[in-house]
Amino acid sequence: MNWKLPQDVLYIINTLNQKGYKAYAVGGCVRDMFLKKTPQDWDITTSAPPEAIIDSFPKTIPTGIKHGTVTVLCGKTPYEVTTFRVDGAYEDHRKPETVTFTEDIREDLSRRDFTMNAMAYHPETGLRDPFGGREDIERKLIRCVGDPLVRFDEDALRMLRAVRFSAQTGFSIDEDILAAMKTLAPLLSAISGERVRDELVKTLLSDRPAKVRVLHETGLLAVILPELDRCFYTHQNHPYHILNVGDHSLRVLENTPKSLSLRLAALLHDIGKPDMKTTDEAGIDHFKGHGSVSTKLAEEIIARLRLDNKTKDAVLLLVREHDRQFAVTKKSIRRAASIVGKDMFFDLLSLQVADALGQNPTMVTERLARLEAAKALYNEILADEDALSVSDLAIGGRDLLELGYCGKEIGAALSKALELVLDDPSANQKEILLKKIQNTD
Ligand code: ATP
Ligand code: MG
Repeated sequence: MNWKLPQDVLYIINTLNQKGYKAYAVGGCVRDMFLKKTPQDWDITTSAPPEAIIDSFPKTIPTGIKHGTVTVLCGKTPYEVTTFRVDGAYEDHRKPETVTFTEDIREDLSRRDFTMNAMAYHPETGLRDPFGGREDIERKLIRCVGDPLVRFDEDALRMLRAVRFSAQTGFSIDEDILAAMKTLAPLLSAISGERVRDELVKTLLSDRPAKVRVLHETGLLAVILPELDRCFYTHQNHPYHILNVGDHSLRVLENTPKSLSLRLAALLHDIGKPDMKTTDEAGIDHFKGHGSVSTKLAEEIIARLRLDNKTKDAVLLLVREHDRQFAVTKKSIRRAASIVGKDMFFDLLSLQVADALGQNPTMVTERLARLEAAKALYNEILADEDALSVSDLAIGGRDLLELGYCGKEIGAALSKALELVLDDPSANQKEILLKKIQNTD
C-alpha cells in the first residue's frame, strides 16, 4: 500500500514531524482510500497540542480548541488538525464532558466509532490499524471499536451513522450492532435534530436509500420518524397496491433520482395514509385526502430536522401535489405546470414515475407510458416557450392600469389572461389579450 496524499496534507504532516510531533491522515479519508473513493475532506491527527498547531502554520482558525481541533488553511482549503485525544465521561448520550490529550495514536483511534473509521496513515510509516479496520473493509462489515452497547450509550448518534455507512458502502452491519440498536434505540431521542438530519440526508442521498428499512427493523425509525414508522403497519388492500405504506414508500424512494427534495418527498408522500384509511363494503382500502395530511406531517418533520427553507418548500409542494392528475394533452399539462411551477414540474413527473414503480407491477405499464408521453409534451411546451405564469404574459399590470383597471381588478384580469393563454398559447399577444379581457368583462 503506497498512497499518494495531496500536497497540502503532506505539507501539514511534514511540518508537524519536523517539530518533533507525530502526525497522520486519519478517519474518513483513510477509509475512502481503501474504498477507492475520493475523500471529501482530509483530517489530520497529531500529538502536537493545539497551541503548537497554531504556532506551526501561518493561517489557522481555532475551530474547537477545547476538543483539540484547529483548522489549518492552505490557500483557501481548510484542513482539520486535531490533537490525539481520549474522551472523558459522556453527557446525555451525546458528547464527552471533558477530553484529555494523549501522546498515543492508539488511544485516539480507540475513541472513534467504527473500525473502518479508526485507521491512520503516514506517508512513510504507513498504516496504523489497531482494530482491524482493513480486514473489516475486505469483509464488507461495519463493526464498532469496542462494545456497541457501550459505544452507543456514549453517543447515540453512532447508531444512525452505522446505517448511513451501510447505505453508502453496501457493507453489512455487524449482528452485535443490530442487537445493540434494538436495545438502545430510545437514546436517540437525546440527539439534536441537526445531527439526525445530517445522517438521514447522507443516507437518503446514498446509492442505497432504502436502507432506511434497517432503521425501521431496529426501532430507530420509531424514535426519529414515528410518523413514517407506523406506515409499515398500514396495509393497503387495493388493486394498485401490493405493499404496505412503509414498504411502498421505500420502493418509491429507490426509484427517485439523487435529489434531496425528491427523496424526502418520496419518503414522506404517503405518511398521512394511516390517519385517512377507510375500507369500503367490498373490503377495498381508500385514503381520501391523505395528500394534505401528509403535507402537514411532513411540515412538522422538516421543522424538527431543521431543514432549510428551499428544501422545505420543494418537499411540501411535491408531497401536496404527488397525486395531481392531468390528461396527456398540452393544454392539461400547461395547466398542471402553471400550478406546480415551471421547474418543479419535472420533479413532479419523476416522483409520479417512482410512485408508479412502487405499485402493483401488473397495473402500472399504462401509467408509466402516460407519464413518459407527458414528459415529451412538456419538453415541447418548454421548447415552444409557451407561457406558464403571469410573468410570461405579453401584457402586464401597466397595460391594464392604462385601460383604467385598478387594485384587485388587475390581478384578476391577469389571471384570466393566463387562463386564456394556457388553453391557447397563440393568444399570447398584447392586442388579442387586451381585447379578450375587455370583451369578457
Ligand atoms: P464523511 O465521509 O461523511 O465525512 P467521516 O467518517 O469522515 O465521513 P466525519 O463525521 O467527517 O465522518 O468524522 C470524521 C471521523 O471522526 C470519523 O471517520 C470517525 O473516525 C470520527 N467520528 C466522527 N463522528 C464520530 C462519533 N460520533 N463517534 C466516534 N467517532 C466519530
Ligand atoms: Mg469527514
